[in-house]
Amino acid sequence: MTSPGCHRVGVGYDAHRLVEGRRLILGGAVIPHPAGLSGHSDADVLTHAVMDATLGAAGLGDIGRHFPPGDPRYKDISSMILLRNVVVLVGSHGYTIGNIDATILADEPALAPHIELMRNNLAQVLGVAVEQVGVKATTSEGMGFIGRREGIAAIAVAALIRSAGRDSP
Ligand code: MG
Repeated sequence: MTSPGCHRVGVGYDAHRLVEGRRLILGGAVIPHPAGLSGHSDADVLTHAVMDATLGAAGLGDIGRHFPPGDPRYKDISSMILLRNVVVLVGSHGYTIGNIDATILADEPALAPHIELMRNNLAQVLGVAVEQVGVKATTSEGMGFIGRREGIAAIAVAALIRSAGRDSP
C-alpha cells in the first residue's frame, strides 16, 4: 500500500530521424527548419519522451503499447492529442502531474527561441502551470547521430502525485 500524496517518477527517451519534406514539430511548436522528423505520427520527439515518462511513472508501460506504430488512426496525428490521452489515462488511475522536466538533444536548429512556446504548449495539454514544465536543449558538439544532424532525441522525467484518498493499484 502506498500512502496518499506519494510521488512516482518515470523516465522517457525517444529519437527520430531528420528527413527533408517533413515539418519539424517539437513540443507542439512548428520549428522553421529545412528538415523535419520522420515517423508514423507527427514524430514530435519531445512530446513522445514526455508521454513515456508519464506512462512510466504510473506503471502503465510505454506509448508503443497504447498507440501502436502503424495504426492508421495515428498516421500524422498531432502528438499533443496523444499526450492529452495519456494525461486522461494516468488521471483515471488516480495520478496528477507533479512536474515534468525534459532535454532535447539537437545540434541544429537552435531551439532557444522556441523553448517557451514548447513549455506553454505542454503545460496546457498536461493541465498544469508552466512552472511545472521544464524544457531545455543541448547539443552533442558534433558527436554521434545528433552531431551529424541525422536525428533529434529527447529525454524526459515525470513526477506524478497520487491523488489523496487513492491507494495504489
Ligand atoms: Mg517517437
